[in-house]
Amino acid sequence: MAAESEKIYECQVKRRRLKVGGGYEPFWKLKTVTEALIDDDTEFRCSDCTGAVKLHRHHVPGAPPPHIAHKLKTDSEYCPAGLYFRKATDGRLPRMSEHPVR
Ligand SMILES: [Zn+2]
Repeated sequence: MAAESEKIYECQVKRRRLKVGGGYEPFWKLKTVTEALIDDDTEFRCSDCTGAVKLHRHHVPGAPPPHIAHKLKTDSEYCPAGLYFRKATDGRLPRMSEHPVR
């Protein structure tokens, strides 16, 4: 049996907006992974722990919709959206990524 894989359907994408006083500043916007692909976003992170994620695009019928998964197992172990965190039975508390994407 294949190991269960992590599937997160919401992400944050890096966008730029006009700054007060001129210039642009980056900010993170929450959207679904499907929307992010339609919008051609290129920079992603987990919206819960701000950790790095891998993007999984699927165009195959019957495959799960596009999703992200944590790159780091330690993020998955302590992120509320993480597969390992949700499977943990030790009553651990969630925490932010130790390697946040900024
Ligand atoms: Zn996370």
